[in-house]
Amino acid sequence: MIGNSGLGKTWSEWTQSFPLLEDIMEMKPVFWQNPSRTDATGLPVSEDDIEEAKTLWRRFAPFIKELFPETKASDGIVESPLRSIPKMQQALERHYHARIRGRLYLKCDNELPIAGSIKARGGVYEVLKYAETLAIEQQLITKEKNYEQFASPKFKHFFKQYSIGVASTGNLGLSIGIISAALGFNVTVHMSADAKEWKKELLREKGATVREYNADFSRAIARGRELSSYEPNSYFIDDENSRDLFLGYSVAALRLKDQLESQGIYVDADNPLFVYLPCGVGGSPGGITFGLKSIFGPHAHCFFVEPTHSPSVLIGLLTGQKEKVSVRDFGLDNLTEADGLAVGRPSSFATEISEKLVSGNYTIHDNELFKLLTLLMDTEEIKVEPSAASGLQGPILLNRCPSYIDKHHLSSKMHQATHIAWSTGGSLVPDEEMRMFYEKGKTLMSGNRVGDSD
Ligand SMILES: *Cc1c(COP(=O)(O)O)cnc(C)c1O
Repeated sequence: MIGNSGLGKTWSEWTQSFPLLEDIMEMKPVFWQNPSRTDATGLPVSEDDIEEAKTLWRRFAPFIKELFPETKASDGIVESPLRSIPKMQQALERHYHARIRGRLYLKCDNELPIAGSIKARGGVYEVLKYAETLAIEQQLITKEKNYEQFASPKFKHFFKQYSIGVASTGNLGLSIGIISAALGFNVTVHMSADAKEWKKELLREKGATVREYNADFSRAIARGRELSSYEPNSYFIDDENSRDLFLGYSVAALRLKDQLESQGIYVDADNPLFVYLPCGVGGSPGGITFGLKSIFGPHAHCFFVEPTHSPSVLIGLLTGQKEKVSVRDFGLDNLTEADGLAVGRPSSFATEISEKLVSGNYTIHDNELFKLLTLLMDTEEIKVEPSAASGLQGPILLNRCPSYIDKHHLSSKMHQATHIAWSTGGSLVPDEEMRMFYEKGKTLMSGNRVGDSD
């Protein structure tokens, strides 16, 4: 390869050290196993931090229930169902001419209240935590009081003095914008060029200020951070380096543990758990992986999925350079239809942790996302956005990679395995847009080439 990464080495020096980079740079789908995996000890976050985050959510439940009526049934707890998807499992086996040993489930974060995506976990959590900190500092509330008061005009008036800023490819902006405006904050969302028009409109409707950039996420976040720093009383939610986002996501693992138990699903040495998580900056998959590894230790196997055009976390982990590298350093364009995954540079906070915990990463071509989304709709009548379908390919790829299974002595246990594809978004997508995604998948399938077409 000719060319320079801008990292003090040429591309050919990089590919000599890491031969898989060659396929990655040619945008071929790859499956990578993490050689640095250890365990959840010696990390900058602990299990107590997850428990603490969970209790914050509980304190805010009366407020959430009051403002978001869709959470009435769950008493103000923001959670999504875990569904068995046997028809999709069969369809995947037919489509890829491969077997999936064990049972396939979908974690339906596409149905999460408030933001309709996984960002309702991290994004909403960080804003609630900030709001609580301010309210306690100003002696408006104590942790023992009923947080329904956060919905009162008095609180709204108080939060009007404060600003929140965030940069986003779309979904993070939606979650931060919606919850911040509901609390009364002045909120500005810095949207990258790939953000969808309907997301900007929805945000303006909810009372957020939207700033549009003719550039990708890295530029939008750099500018957002800078503008926010000039404003008095302003707080910037930094997707590239946020502990609170990470902890907000991690709570999902505790909830999943309860759901598995109540559905009679075991996770132990004889019953391995495989989880496939769509990955952008790596915060949501990192936080959930951290939670799952804290709970299930070696019995949880977590894999991240990225688009072939934006494998930022994969490159960061493979080269060990983490947030120091961008996909552009390796000649990739960071263009994908997978909202939330069009991220060129990994989160520094999350990737440091994921390096120790994630089992591996794989990449997927955009076309495959549409096919998977259409298959899921046809078999299970579940609507997800393209990013959210990416995890569904995981069990197929794992099956094609016996070395992982052998290395962990899992071959005789795979028939008892639980596979969870984490579906990360979809319910706010307008019908018309969803229909176009579906039609695109249909067309791609009818010109069918099995497997990793491009
Ligand atoms: C943000 C997002 C992800 C990935 O989360 P990160 O924290 O950026 O890794 C996955 N899917 C969807 C739909 C998202 O919006």
